[in-house]
Amino acid sequence: MSFTLHGLGVSGGIAIGHAHLVTATSLEVDHYQIPEEFIAREVKRFDKAVKQVRTELDALEAEIKVSHRGDASADMAAFVTVHRMILEDPSFTETPREVIARESCNAEWALKLQLDDLLAQFADVQDEYLRERRTDVRQVAERVVAALSGQGGVVPEKLRERIEDTILVAHDLSPADVILFKDHQVAAFVTDVGGSTSHTAILARSLGIPAIVALHTARELVREDEVIIVDGTQGVVIVEPDETVLTEYRLKQHQWKLERQKLSRIKTATAETLDGTVVELHANIELPTDLDAVKKSGATGIGLFRTEFLFMNRKDSPSEEEQFAAYRTVAEGMRGQPVVIRTLDIGADKTLDEEISSTAHSALGLRAIRYCLSEPQLFNTQLRAILRASRYGDVRILIPMLVSTAELRQTIAALDMAKAELKAEGKKFNENIQVGGMIEIPAAAIALPMFLKKLDFLSIGTNDLIQYTLAIDRTDDAVAHLYDPLHPAVLSLIASVIRQANAANVPVAVCGEMAGDLALTRLLLGFGLKHFSMHPANLLPVKQRVLMSNLPDIEPFATKILKADDAEKIHLLLAKLNA
Ligand code: PEP
Ligand code: MG
Repeated sequence: MSFTLHGLGVSGGIAIGHAHLVTATSLEVDHYQIPEEFIAREVKRFDKAVKQVRTELDALEAEIKVSHRGDASADMAAFVTVHRMILEDPSFTETPREVIARESCNAEWALKLQLDDLLAQFADVQDEYLRERRTDVRQVAERVVAALSGQGGVVPEKLRERIEDTILVAHDLSPADVILFKDHQVAAFVTDVGGSTSHTAILARSLGIPAIVALHTARELVREDEVIIVDGTQGVVIVEPDETVLTEYRLKQHQWKLERQKLSRIKTATAETLDGTVVELHANIELPTDLDAVKKSGATGIGLFRTEFLFMNRKDSPSEEEQFAAYRTVAEGMRGQPVVIRTLDIGADKTLDEEISSTAHSALGLRAIRYCLSEPQLFNTQLRAILRASRYGDVRILIPMLVSTAELRQTIAALDMAKAELKAEGKKFNENIQVGGMIEIPAAAIALPMFLKKLDFLSIGTNDLIQYTLAIDRTDDAVAHLYDPLHPAVLSLIASVIRQANAANVPVAVCGEMAGDLALTRLLLGFGLKHFSMHPANLLPVKQRVLMSNLPDIEPFATKILKADDAEKIHLLLAKLNA
């Protein structure tokens, strides 16, 4: 039976494909009693799941061998070997069977009891290597639970051959899950929860795949393998569409692709308004592999390299050499164009493996620069790597979540120390590397003069600025409707930062999602913004909008919008501005 679901479209485009239900990667399992006569059957169900995971691991290993990913290949193969050893251990294969019989409980619960027991034993282990295997044990258990519920992992082997038409349907996906899709491109994903500027949504846009969040019941209502249409622009999912609807959406999909192709014609054009004002359009990236998309977008620089993604999906922090190699690749790849490398911004929805950081970094907690300053060794490693890469291009440093000058002073001291060390070691770097700050906490925007004097450039992080100004968790779909870039307080802060920075001749960019939102391009231009940074997929549409804009026409609208005090009036004026 065909039906439609509505959510929050967070990445445009249309995908038509087969649903794959993703199991939550947590061990929250039900507990129920199994009648005596069905115990043997439950044990069999458990055995079958273990067997499936064995096959999955074999397939994963085979794929790693084929994909030749250099050093990463050896690491990944080792990880599969460890997982296989854990799976084959009697404490995994035998004990849960005994627990099922002894407790008359379901297999998932037996596995959970055994896992709790194993993890408790690990806590007493002195050997650091063995202690670190806790995460592996948990991951193997998660795989078995997923198999028990009839699912594979996020990207299951059986779907690999037709992964391009696979649409992931999940209750939630973490940014760490989504970054894996860079290797296994799926057609689209939809989730029951999430906000439009969560990092999961941002990654979907950077992958250029349609995505919808906040569907609430998709994971429950959609069945494995059902044909679904995802209209990321409208935020609509159509399940089991009939032939007429399918034909209509195939046509729309074709038109969308044609429009994208047409836009590539302006790739090398200078982004210049009709009155001759040149605008810089830079790209946001998460990994060096994004360089391809940056090149295709015609971006004239990297305005935001979110380095925290180098630290995800792994059990150790990347070494100085590894980070240096990544930053150097990007610097060289951009051939002298600016590359703004943001120091590690973990926290809120961007989490690291608990082996790297056991602290929870809430949005208001030990996040971004606060965390780096509390971990001097980790920060030093990153600063040294960035400095060393600065020889290979126009590398600049960006500090996230600045709120006080004390933080800035400490950061500069840490940078000076890294510089002194490198000098003493005879290693070369750009001694005058520019240091910029993200303005993404209202306090920093309000007390801007104290930063203006000390920073070489500013970048407005509108995602967090909105979150903190309006007290709206950007990942929480329950308050997603209140997350409003057009709130007068938000607009007033953004306009004031741009005005003050322009007056002080300090370059200022916007690198939050507002920079890539076509509906806001003219408004930001009207505020005096000359520098945008966005994910590559949005760059050409924004450039087209810039080419069709005339500043003298726009500015009076922007002034009126700033003075407007109710939402309806603001939307009306914005519609006129974009007409
Ligand atoms: C922002 O907050 O606007 C920003 C660009 O940083 P992030 O989205 O990574 O928090
Ligand atoms: Mg931010």
